[in-house]
Amino acid sequence: MAKSKYRYNPDSLSYDRIKPSFKKRLLIFLSWLSFVLTIALLLNVFYSSVFDTPREKMLIRENNQLNLQYNILNQKVNSLETVLEDIERRDDNIYRTIFNADPIPSSVRDAGFGGVNRYEYLEGYNNSDIIIETAKRLDLLTKAVYVQSKSYDEVVDLAKSRENQLSSLPAIMPISNKDLTRTASGWGFRIHPIYKIRKFHYGMDFTAPTGTEVYASADGTIDQIQRSRRGYGNLMVINHGYGYKTLYAHLNDFNNAWVGKKVNRGDIIAFVGSTGLSTAPHLHYEVHLNRKKVNPVNYYFEDLTAEEFDRMIVLSMRPGQSFD
Ligand SMILES: [Zn+2]
Repeated sequence: MAKSKYRYNPDSLSYDRIKPSFKKRLLIFLSWLSFVLTIALLLNVFYSSVFDTPREKMLIRENNQLNLQYNILNQKVNSLETVLEDIERRDDNIYRTIFNADPIPSSVRDAGFGGVNRYEYLEGYNNSDIIIETAKRLDLLTKAVYVQSKSYDEVVDLAKSRENQLSSLPAIMPISNKDLTRTASGWGFRIHPIYKIRKFHYGMDFTAPTGTEVYASADGTIDQIQRSRRGYGNLMVINHGYGYKTLYAHLNDFNNAWVGKKVNRGDIIAFVGSTGLSTAPHLHYEVHLNRKKVNPVNYYFEDLTAEEFDRMIVLSMRPGQSFD
């Protein structure tokens, strides 16, 4: 506070106290106030530059925690990437190999995301780097998992079609031939029973009484039904797909059959007869692969053990006459 001022009064011979004007007092007050405020401000700046406020301390701790959590998250991403790499390797080297599918090229597996910067919204913060890095890795992981699951879909489809393919492959004898005694004549040159000349026999003959059941040797669709008294006589052809057809000749009759009818392996499709050029009741059976006749003896693997197969080969190679 300013000191009080006095003025000598010659009239009263005393000192009168001079009262400062209001304006002056206000001025004094304001200068004090500004002084105090300046000091307070300076102290505050000094304090906050040296010490953290409790709120700042809390935020720093929170920030450190977040950083730690992001690091842990990244480690988890690491182990997920390792697991996925292992799955991808197995997929390419085992599953896709079994089904003759090409491995998925790494350009597809590891494809990133082109074009615009997807992480722009994450930029401009203290920890942008680690957050963007984590987001990128998670995105890539998500994409790789998607590619992998598509690959498994494909493998499942391939496995299903392989199952179809197996049941469409001629694999049983067309008539019941448990002890192989019905095996009459096989693939190769034989004396033709009627023409009495050496002629290539493009199928296999099974002797059996007229009316013996004839089986479809694989799943397929009846392709051809022909009634005739010449050549092959009453004839049926089944188309199995995958390039395979089977032919059944000299039939006595058909069993509820029409062209286009779907049949399964083992279905009774016809009955043994001796129609056409035939000397005795028997079934002439052919297997065609890609429009070429092939030796049917190699297509009984569902029926025959290894030893039976050996006997079957010997029986089917006996020289002599064929039955047609
Ligand atoms: Zn024959």
